[in-house]
Amino acid sequence: MSDFPVPKVVVSQCLEFGEVRYNGAVIPDKAVQRMRPYVEFIPVCPEVEIGLGVPREVIRIVDDEEQQLIQPKTGENLTSTMKDFSKAFLSQLTEVDGFLLKNRSPTCGMQDVKVYQSEKNSQVVSKTSGLFASEILQQFGGLAIEEEGRLKNFTLRHHFLTKLFTLASFRTMKKNGGMRDLQAFHSQNKYLFMAYQPGILKQMGRLIANHGHLPFDEVVEYYEERLHRLMEKPAKSSAHVNVCQHMAGYFKRELSSKEKEGFQSLLNQYVDEKVPLSAVLSVLQSWVDRFQSAYLKKQTYFTPYPLELVEITDSGKGRAYS
Ligand code: SF4
Repeated sequence: MSDFPVPKVVVSQCLEFGEVRYNGAVIPDKAVQRMRPYVEFIPVCPEVEIGLGVPREVIRIVDDEEQQLIQPKTGENLTSTMKDFSKAFLSQLTEVDGFLLKNRSPTCGMQDVKVYQSEKNSQVVSKTSGLFASEILQQFGGLAIEEEGRLKNFTLRHHFLTKLFTLASFRTMKKNGGMRDLQAFHSQNKYLFMAYQPGILKQMGRLIANHGHLPFDEVVEYYEERLHRLMEKPAKSSAHVNVCQHMAGYFKRELSSKEKEGFQSLLNQYVDEKVPLSAVLSVLQSWVDRFQSAYLKKQTYFTPYPLELVEITDSGKGRAYS
């Protein structure tokens, strides 16, 4: 087993963990299956938790001044019960790094959840988030949050796993560490963070320099806020190119001009989506080994999460290779 922290992830219970859907079904999910040995899952089914039982009549979100969660068959309005449960459940989570949610559910769906015109009228008037998901986004918006369907896309999956393991590592450091541990965390993630947001990386660098002699708790809090902002969206391919050029710059005296040209041509192929980023990284890694660069060797950019979770398949929606 690789030397990574174990992220804690709240998961919709109907994904692999229990026959809790309205019709008593459980949904097999490949992403959950693959992650199970490396992640501590916290399964929950909010609809069961508020006492709806299995099987149950379907519920839907309907349009009103404020959107309401209704069970059309019984006419029951479950809005405040679901909101109260969601708040209470989330507020007792002391350690969590991410959420993996069932899509399109009026409870767990993050986006694209249908809003119906009324209890009786099935015309769809807009899309929204489920009630439980909406509370998650409010309370834990900076964490790694995804829906099961979207993880079929390579870029989104890579981003989700990178963020999840980085946040788990940060949580572990924060719990046990001090200023030196934060500086070490920053140093080993430098190129990963540069690929996300170089501007925020600089702000984080100034924070850990701590010229104002702030206490660790205060520095770590500011740092965490920036870390969440930095990893809000997947890194762009142009930013990956910039990072790879920076890293290759370490070896500019040692490499022949032929090797440099070959590397530039590989980067161009990556930009043109002819080769994956991993092809570029394996060349860089071979140079790190050849020239024994201790600093680059420890960069999380090369392997931000366990290799066993790397899978190059893609749904075909969006860029295949990050
Ligand atoms: S989507 Fe959420 S509420 Fe619906 S069955 Fe799955 S876990 Fe329960």
